[in-house]
Amino acid sequence: MATQAKRDYYEVLGVQRTASEQEIKSSYRKLAMQYHPDRNPDNPHAEEKFKEASEAYGVLIDSEKRARYDQFGHEGMNGGFGGFDPSTFSDFSDIFGDLFSDFFGVNVNTGRRNRAQKGADRGVDLQLTFEEAAFGKKTEVKVKRYENCDECRGSGTAPGKAPVTCSTCHGRGQVRYQQGFFSVARTCPSCGGMGRVIADPCHKCKGEGRQIRERTIEINVPPGVEDGTRMRYQEQGDSGGNGGHAGDLYVMLHVKPHPFFEREGKDLFCSVPISFSQAALGTEIPIPTLDGEYKLKIPEGTQSGTVLRVRGKGLSSIRGGGKGDLHVQVRVQTPGKLNKRQRELLAELGGSSAIENKPEPRSLFEKVKEIFG
Ligand SMILES: [Zn+2]
Ligand SMILES: [Zn+2]
Repeated sequence: MATQAKRDYYEVLGVQRTASEQEIKSSYRKLAMQYHPDRNPDNPHAEEKFKEASEAYGVLIDSEKRARYDQFGHEGMNGGFGGFDPSTFSDFSDIFGDLFSDFFGVNVNTGRRNRAQKGADRGVDLQLTFEEAAFGKKTEVKVKRYENCDECRGSGTAPGKAPVTCSTCHGRGQVRYQQGFFSVARTCPSCGGMGRVIADPCHKCKGEGRQIRERTIEINVPPGVEDGTRMRYQEQGDSGGNGGHAGDLYVMLHVKPHPFFEREGKDLFCSVPISFSQAALGTEIPIPTLDGEYKLKIPEGTQSGTVLRVRGKGLSSIRGGGKGDLHVQVRVQTPGKLNKRQRELLAELGGSSAIENKPEPRSLFEKVKEIFG
């Protein structure tokens, strides 16, 4: 199954790419009725079809997943936004409520289905440079989302008109009929359980009550955010149904690495080469920090691998507290090509400052490894 090329979800459900939620639902319902395992015992082909249709439905009925699928295809379903997961079916029970009442004549739904529904969440990605993440940034993102139709304010009816009581169920949302000994109730097929129908649909949204709109949202990235930080903007996702709250907008931050700074929390790390004589005699060298140049003092007799700490030259943290530190590891570079004069000087120096060439305790080595991974 996994190795086979996946069929297009729209093709699976046999609907147009522009299909409405209602069309997707009814098409899935038909397929589920046809291929449901209970109706096709010991038929693996039917079971496969049922699973395929359920997966397609799970994606296309969720406006966020559908938008992602439209843009990226099946690939888009494997990323951070999750693939098929039956537990995220928001109205699985609605569909199966209907299915069960259709199969068994059981009354699963009680009363009309006009409860408020929260809108779906939306997600957008935002790329930041290392410095933008360090200092924060005011910017904007574009987001496509469902909003209530501004013509009918979400009602789906033409201006001045109101939804009328469904004549099939007389507003109850259910119809009852006699089946053998039993009187059974099922969701009204005319109004889908709403109890009301739109007689004069709004011309702008064709009765849907909502439309896709692209909006520009102002984003205020605080200083100190990290790669993978997710910012939540409440009620900036899809509008809700029946007066429900809008979904949320999640802005996923991606931070580009710095050419030489490594970051850990609010501390910065870098590595700087110095010459043998700078290390031996001590000096001051200019080093770059995120807010300009800093004169770093190299003490006399500095060993290669020494880590010098510059306080307060790290980053802010979104968790608060003071700024982090900059840790500079100095590496003493052994001169490679020497001329005759340099060779003589070094030989002379070597003779007067001989050291014992014995292995050092392990702990020194481990300490550096700990900091620089
Ligand atoms: Zn409208
Ligand atoms: Zn009805």
